[in-house]
Amino acid sequence: MPTAAPIAMNSDARVIPGRECGSCTLCCKVYNIPEIGKAAGKWCKHCTPGKGCAIHESLPSQCAAFNCLWRTQEALPPHWKPEQAKMVITIFPLNGFIYVQVDPGAPSAWLKQPYHDQLRQWAKNNLEKGIHVIVFVKDIATLIMPDQDVTLGLMKPTDGISVRRNFAPGFSKYEVTLIPGDTAGL
Ligand code: SF4
Ligand code: SF4
Repeated sequence: MPTAAPIAMNSDARVIPGRECGSCTLCCKVYNIPEIGKAAGKWCKHCTPGKGCAIHESLPSQCAAFNCLWRTQEALPPHWKPEQAKMVITIFPLNGFIYVQVDPGAPSAWLKQPYHDQLRQWAKNNLEKGIHVIVFVKDIATLIMPDQDVTLGLMKPTDGISVRRNFAPGFSKYEVTLIPGDTAGL
């Protein structure tokens, strides 16, 4: 089972009026859902892409509790709607990090503009709070820093990170250590 970020619960957040899923079904593709044995990056067998879920009456608990950040954060403009951006954004509840789960069918979506500049801006705005922006393509992670993208490689959503910046004349490089987290429930 891929370890890419499971659906993050966000049920307490209020859905902004007008932010309907409509023809978006991207969260039914990008996440792993252990409860129904669904692997990350593959369409759920219950999903008709562009239309929706066939088992509304008996949703897995992760699905029932899920809203992506585009639905609940007015500050996210319309172009961040996941079906357009090809990315689903959540705040991961265990660490408060901003997780960006990219559609593996469009793995470089996060490098396109205006998205990449905005990811960098979020990294800048949140660095002092200890909140990181991490992009996942399946379970391969990239840490977005205010001035660089740092490839992390295989990462579980529950892993912590420790970031150190090494300076040299005319050059600086981040050293990132993954801190294994609890995988129970993934
Ligand atoms: S990714 Fe967001 S907008 Fe798209 S279907 Fe899921 S919850 Fe709805
Ligand atoms: S069970 Fe339904 S809501 Fe959950 S991933 Fe599958 S299609 Fe989407």
